[in-house]
Amino acid sequence: MSAYLRRQILIERMNELENSGKDCKGCSGTCCTYEANSMMVTPVEAVELVDYLKANHLFDEELKIRLLETVAKYRLDQSFGNGKRSFIRRTYTCPFFNHKELGCPLPREVKPFGCLAFNAHDVEKKAGEFCFSEKEVLEKRELGSVEEVALNFELKEKYSLNWDKTPLPLALLDFFKS
Ligand code: SF4
Ligand code: SF4
Repeated sequence: MSAYLRRQILIERMNELENSGKDCKGCSGTCCTYEANSMMVTPVEAVELVDYLKANHLFDEELKIRLLETVAKYRLDQSFGNGKRSFIRRTYTCPFFNHKELGCPLPREVKPFGCLAFNAHDVEKKAGEFCFSEKEVLEKRELGSVEEVALNFELKEKYSLNWDKTPLPLALLDFFKS
């Protein structure tokens, strides 16, 4: 299954909301900053993003430094045990956020599922007041991607990952080691 197909239902829902005026225009990107972002990813999400970054020559030393700075600043490496249980779910400003309106530079087909599912649900009020994830859409996506369970397991083995889900910066740093 392609990265796009894996996310298709989320992207289509996002487009639907945007077409009805429930978009992110005018928002400074609250959900990507430490004010509200605690995004965690699975091995599949991490690998798809790493592949995109490598293909676009973005998986480089500069990114590594930004990831390390994010981990240190928000103490992300101190909040999780073995990746199965989270003791404290820390918030952090995403290392990809470019601090302006519509601030995510990543294409939708490689964004974390949680980022795609979190949307504005009001035409007027933005900046988080009426933004939320639709669990039912996330669940529907999961049901349509049942092979992902085995794939996550395979990727954990292949890249010697010791987590099922972990904050995005920590996940990407593991691929600098492999
Ligand atoms: S989902 Fe909400 S908080 Fe996030 S960028 Fe869009 S309007 Fe802002
Ligand atoms: S990946 Fe993009 S949408 Fe998700 S938190 Fe980072 S900047 Fe925001």
